[in-house]
Amino acid sequence: MKFRRPHLRTVRGRLLLAAIAVEAVMLTLLVGNSLRLLQGSLGAQAENHAAQMAPVLNAALVAPLAQSDTATVQAILDESQAVPGIEYLAVIDRRGKLVAISGWPRGKPLPKVDSRFSLEQKDGIPRYDVARPIQIAGQQLGTLRYGLDLSHIIAARRDLVTQGVAIALGEILLSAGLLTLLGYWMTRHLAALTRASEAVARGNYTPDPVIEGDDDVGRLGAAFNAMSRVVGERIGELMSTRDELITLAYTLEQEHARLGALLSSMEFGVLFLNPAERAIYVNPAFRHLWNIPDGVDIQGRAMGHLLALAEQPPADPVMVANALLDLDRQAEFQRDDGRTVTARGYPVVMSDGQKIGRLWTFVDVTLSRLHAHQMQAAKEAAEAASAAKASFLATMSHEIRTPMNGIIGMTQLALETELSEEQREYLTWVHTSAESLLSILNDILDFSKIDAGRLDLEQVSFNLHDMVRQTVGLFTAQAGGKGIALKLDLAPDLPREALGDPIRLRQVLTNLLSNAMKFTSAGAIAVHVGLAATSARVPGRLDLHFSVADSGVGIPADKLDMIFSPFSQADSSITRRFGGTGLGLAIAQRLVAMMDGRIWVESQPGQGSTFQFVVALRQAEPPKGVVAPMARSEGGGAHVLVAEDTPVNQRLAQTLLSKRGYRVSLANDGVEALDKCQAESFALVLMDMQMPNMDGLEATEKIRAYEKANGQPRVPIVAMTANAMEVDRQRCLEAGMDGFISKPFRADELLALVAQSISSPTSAG
Ligand code: ADP
Repeated sequence: MKFRRPHLRTVRGRLLLAAIAVEAVMLTLLVGNSLRLLQGSLGAQAENHAAQMAPVLNAALVAPLAQSDTATVQAILDESQAVPGIEYLAVIDRRGKLVAISGWPRGKPLPKVDSRFSLEQKDGIPRYDVARPIQIAGQQLGTLRYGLDLSHIIAARRDLVTQGVAIALGEILLSAGLLTLLGYWMTRHLAALTRASEAVARGNYTPDPVIEGDDDVGRLGAAFNAMSRVVGERIGELMSTRDELITLAYTLEQEHARLGALLSSMEFGVLFLNPAERAIYVNPAFRHLWNIPDGVDIQGRAMGHLLALAEQPPADPVMVANALLDLDRQAEFQRDDGRTVTARGYPVVMSDGQKIGRLWTFVDVTLSRLHAHQMQAAKEAAEAASAAKASFLATMSHEIRTPMNGIIGMTQLALETELSEEQREYLTWVHTSAESLLSILNDILDFSKIDAGRLDLEQVSFNLHDMVRQTVGLFTAQAGGKGIALKLDLAPDLPREALGDPIRLRQVLTNLLSNAMKFTSAGAIAVHVGLAATSARVPGRLDLHFSVADSGVGIPADKLDMIFSPFSQADSSITRRFGGTGLGLAIAQRLVAMMDGRIWVESQPGQGSTFQFVVALRQAEPPKGVVAPMARSEGGGAHVLVAEDTPVNQRLAQTLLSKRGYRVSLANDGVEALDKCQAESFALVLMDMQMPNMDGLEATEKIRAYEKANGQPRVPIVAMTANAMEVDRQRCLEAGMDGFISKPFRADELLALVAQSISSPTSAG
């Protein structure tokens, strides 16, 4: 326990002081009163004593005095003077003559008689001087004088004062101590409260709780604790709110900075208006657009006024501004300098829906308009050029294919006749050259079609196994001739049927096979077809993996990427040695990509190459019934009408078909074809598209109309055309044709299609 010096400013100090003051006053009163009483009682005692002495001495002295027995008087006096407290005694006769004296020098005059009792100091001692008559029977004989020593009263008084003061001091000390203790006990809670409050004032909002209790101070402590708890909580909340506010302010500042940077960097002029349509912000681009110098303050200006600030203001800035204000969303105007500016207005709305003004953006669209016009013109020119190219290609391809059909077909026919060895050799060369010319032509056409985005893939169900076997089969003879082993491996889980474009798939495979054949002189070519690892990841999808591995010359590593680019070959000497355009792989790559797949190659120069590709086809429904293809030799005398204006092609078709047992009639144009169809019924019509008088499309439409009007069965019509474009095919089908073969065709292709069309008229391709 630690005592503090009581301080006047503390309650304890003041209590103590007040208590001591009260004590002091009371004790002083007490001691004073005691003194007074003591003095009174001792004085009365002394007075009594003095009064009592007189009759006794009177009685003793009457006789000797009356007899003038001075010696006896003296003896009585001396005896009496021996009594303590009597300082002197003297007897004076009637005439005032001193008779006897004791305790007082004879010559010295007697002191003056006190009129009443007094403790006055006389000759150094307190003494009461008394005079009493000595009388008998009313007759005065003399006067008795005596002095009483009152020192004991003074001593008693002094003792009383000394003890009283000592007791008072002791009591004051004792009560000061007790009061201090009591005060401390009483005020320690207050002190604790003070300390806790001071702690709060210093910033410690959660001071240690002060002592609580049942008394007033204890309840005050409890109240203080409750209050400081609440204050602490509130302060905590305030602090966290403050922290949040600081964070918010920081975030806002960052937002502001970002927004500022954005607005400064924007090429748009930006103007913010307050709800009273007065400017509150413009960005640098706005100033730039309207040539408003940086120093000019824009705050609070109406838009008309603002635009008038421009170094070259619009002709009537106020009008422009009013126009903008009236139009709520968008406006466009021409400036004096010929530039076009578009303005767009947006309401600025707070999240609670309160509108706090409007934002205008101003864009100088002069240049972009110009560019857009130029772009549009360029685009139109490019489209026109592309259309011209496409139609040129179509025309060219038609023009070249028609004679090619004749050359190839006729050469083939000629080769089937009796020929000398030399003639056969020459014709074989003609045939080979025509074939390769055709393949080049096809490549170029395919490539430009793909490039122009005009190649569409089919979605038909086909027999995958047959397609692969037939394609590989086409190379059997060639491989045998070169002494190369040709192996085909179909994975056991490879489905038979697939949905996709068999012609284009075959084209890719053919291309890889013919390259492998071209660049391999010994060893083997191995073809593998299986399901790709990704297959069945998507329901209904059929991912196929093809690989064609050869043991040929191989491709240098640095050429591996290049060979898929159009018109590129790994070695230019190759062109001379092996021929080719460098388009095959480029086409293959594009076709594969169109089938959602990819193609790649691995190769070791001198060891061989492996080309692989994956394509995504769709799983096909299993076929409901297999249509037995008609044997080629079994035309069975079916009657076929060939509508064709070119004599060489007439002849070709006629020869091919009649050799296979078909009966063939000819029509030179559409009109003739229509006549013949009305007169006779045919198993099939082969219809050229481009014919004089009436073209194939029109003839077909008319035949269909006639059949419908006369309730005749629908004759299968297959188009023969040198127009190899997909659009042509579409047009044929729309006109009511059932199939399509493009010229030049190979004999077996034509015969297969004819056989198929006759047996299942609507499914011919
Ligand atoms: P090309 O019509 O010239 O064959 P491709 O695009 O089919 O055009 O092939 C491009 C080039 O890729 C070929 O000229 C050849 O250099 C190289 N190439 C393609 N396949 C093979 C292969 N199996 N072995 C070696 N080189 C090949």
